[in-house]
Amino acid sequence: GLADRLQSTIQKIRGKGKVSEADVKEMMREVRLALLEADVNFKVVKDFVKKVSERAVGQEVLKSLTPGQQIIKIVNEELTSLMGGEQSKIAVASRPPTVIMMVGLQGAGKTTTTGKLANLLRKKYNRKPLLVAGDIYRPAAIKQLETLGKQLNMPVFSLGDQISPVEIARKAIEKAKEDHNDYVLIDTAGRLHVDAALMDELKEIKELTKPDEIFLVVDAMTGQDAVNVAQSFNEQLGITGVVLTKLDGDTRGGAALSIRAVTEKPIKFVGLGEKLDALEPFHPERMASRILGMGDVLTLIEKAQSNIDEQKAKELEQKMRTATFTLDDFLDQLAQVRKMGPLDELLKMMPGANRIKGLNNIQIDEKQIAHVEAIIKSMTKDEKLRPELMNSSRKRRIAKGSGRTVAEVNRLLKQFEEMKKMMKQMSGMQQKVKKKGGFK
Ligand code: GDP
Ligand code: MG
Repeated sequence: GLADRLQSTIQKIRGKGKVSEADVKEMMREVRLALLEADVNFKVVKDFVKKVSERAVGQEVLKSLTPGQQIIKIVNEELTSLMGGEQSKIAVASRPPTVIMMVGLQGAGKTTTTGKLANLLRKKYNRKPLLVAGDIYRPAAIKQLETLGKQLNMPVFSLGDQISPVEIARKAIEKAKEDHNDYVLIDTAGRLHVDAALMDELKEIKELTKPDEIFLVVDAMTGQDAVNVAQSFNEQLGITGVVLTKLDGDTRGGAALSIRAVTEKPIKFVGLGEKLDALEPFHPERMASRILGMGDVLTLIEKAQSNIDEQKAKELEQKMRTATFTLDDFLDQLAQVRKMGPLDELLKMMPGANRIKGLNNIQIDEKQIAHVEAIIKSMTKDEKLRPELMNSSRKRRIAKGSGRTVAEVNRLLKQFEEMKKMMKQMSGMQQKVKKKGGFK
């Protein structure tokens, strides 16, 4: 997929100390192919590559200490801006209820998204939505929405399939006012293709209800088609935002990247599954990072750049490679990392962290780190260089000196040994990759 392809391109450039214009050109060629392969709109790709190239060959980038990383940063920033930059908000009517029309083709996920959105509005914004069954053409559609309403324990307004959707919408808004529902979510009918009769009906509902939002629901799996659908709904009806569903599936990402650029309308939410809690506000920045498969590594790079002493970082890296990392270095590293801010925040930004279950709940105890520091500082120079010297009388002395227990001293030594082992393996791996002409 797009992520894999971009990631392998990025791997090639990541650690480069020197990047030439030719390197940039080669990388941009790959990026261009990756985007086209992901079904991103042709014109969007062209503009994107042009923008990134212009910025990447800029003097300050190629001459910087970390050109590879700078270019990744540019790609990320441009991907983010392609998707609209900022996260966009959901409208609130000055006089409630706020009316939202859900529109889109059949099977895109309108009805499901109506339920999910109601759920989100209540859970996140403390709102009281009324769901409106406005699809009278598919026999099961009303029932489907009513079932969702039951699951959510939320009111669903329906008048069966004998009354026109326009009339249903009008009565629903009256009802919402009576019952003090502050949001009205109108589910509407879809068709297999954009067709004139459907558009007329939707226009009529729009005229009458003056919705604060018209959300077009599109299926991310349909790639360019989703973009074309968005374009024609926007031209014919006017939409305020897009909900991109089925992003949990095997999508190529093209829709997410093209819709904003083609329609100038933001993606507001993304659907990530069939369950009622599988809807999330769309964050262009997070999506870009997800596409690049790098967690929030850019923030991390920025933090590191502003806080870590370049020279020290180089020395540490060298030590890791040669596995001559000592307890003193460990202490140094702790100090550097602590300068960057709370550890649990940092950990969440690590690449791949989003894949680690439960990381969101992790609490790193800053006190523990202070204890580790105290223990290491109570060691003699010899002990720090050669932990294998450690015997029980030394451990007792260190425990006493640091105000910790012998068990804690043992645990630290064990952890340190494991870390060293891991580093040895890592540097072994890097050597192998290097020989194969891999990522360095
Ligand atoms: P509608 O015809 O536009 O109202 O579409 P529905 O709401 O009936 O959804 C069609 C199908 O897509 C249903 O089986 C939904 O469960 C499924 N669906 C909707 N949104 C998502 C999503 O974000 N992810 C996945 N995997 N399935 C979804
Ligand atoms: Mg439906």
